[in-house]
Amino acid sequence: MSKLPNIVTSIFTVMSKMASEHNAINLSQGFPNFAVDERLTDIVARLSKEEVHQYLPMSGYPPLLLKTAQLVQKSYNRIVHPETELLITAGATQGIFTAIQALVHPHDEVVILDPSYDSYEAPVLLCNAKTVRVDLNDNFTPNWERIEKAFSSKTKMIVINNPHNPTGKIWKEKDFEALEKILDKHPDVILLSDEVYEYITFEQQHISVHSRPKLFDRSVVVSSFGKSFHVTGWKVGYLVAPENLMKEIKKVHQFLVFCVNSISQIAICEYLDLVSVDELGTFYQEKRDYFRKLLQDSRFELMPCEGTYFQVASYASIPMAIGTDGDDVAFCERLITDYGVAAIPVSTFYADGKDRKLVRFCFAKDNATLEEAAKRLCTV
Ligand code: PMP
Ligand code: GLN
Repeated sequence: MSKLPNIVTSIFTVMSKMASEHNAINLSQGFPNFAVDERLTDIVARLSKEEVHQYLPMSGYPPLLLKTAQLVQKSYNRIVHPETELLITAGATQGIFTAIQALVHPHDEVVILDPSYDSYEAPVLLCNAKTVRVDLNDNFTPNWERIEKAFSSKTKMIVINNPHNPTGKIWKEKDFEALEKILDKHPDVILLSDEVYEYITFEQQHISVHSRPKLFDRSVVVSSFGKSFHVTGWKVGYLVAPENLMKEIKKVHQFLVFCVNSISQIAICEYLDLVSVDELGTFYQEKRDYFRKLLQDSRFELMPCEGTYFQVASYASIPMAIGTDGDDVAFCERLITDYGVAAIPVSTFYADGKDRKLVRFCFAKDNATLEEAAKRLCTV
């Protein structure tokens, strides 16, 4: 019998595969298609001839741990101990999986806010625990009444994702105040904060759990160098957690990967001296604005995008436009086969799978790709 009977192949895999089979422009799975910074590829080329190919210490390359702690301090003014509170992971995905495996017990409940990224559910189920999925409001802000009601004596963890995939929404001060108030009443609940898009915010600044001291002793914060340095395929991320939680997380990590691949860690460590994460918001804001402008005469209605590199669009006003009265999955399939553009159907981020006539486009693409994709989308 399957341990995960209801878990299917991820929508990102499905849509990317279909895009490639149909030679469509792939705005589905979130990854950049422009060249990686030459300073980074030069470091890798040089390092490949050096002695960097053997195991590193289990928690991470010590100079990278140190520089990561400095990055957290510079960004959020939080002092993190590199040896006891930090862990380099094989992408945020492994960080999330490892933290959940280490901290969630059988029959515990984990609160997840929908629409939600797909990496949270399966690790909870593999702990023989249960997810409690709570819908965000229609404008994708957290609904604190519903969230509070979802807590029970069995609640072990709440997962938040800010900036938010897929909606591009970012949390406000009042959201954190509301969360802190609820968590005050539940002192044993752990907060897992997925902040992989922390440096990709636009008009408003990202508020990180790293800047909420009240939450430090119960939080695991997840980051991804893949997102911040345009190298999603490298799969390097990190976790920050207080020592008592991190001890448990490391017990799982050492048997899941032992250590993350050496050359990527050493390259990122050197690159951190050259690059500034402060440029990332402006870089992607230009792409967001350009993509939105290209689509302004289309029949898609563009939702606000405050952060991440995803644009959610409603196709509610073009119901039969591409000859399907099916759901958003069918709409996305037809978008690939008939129009040559791949997107992600947002219903797949919800436990109820209900069609809300929303699709997600990734705009982390070079301008030529965005132009051609928009040209095609304007004909829908
Ligand atoms: N969390 C969110 C919200 C994501 O969008 C992603 C995907 N890129 C991840 C985690 C996984 O990140 P990584 O590629 O570093 O494993
Ligand atoms: N995070 C990426 C997205 O939302 C997908 C990464 C993956 O396929 N695992 O598109």
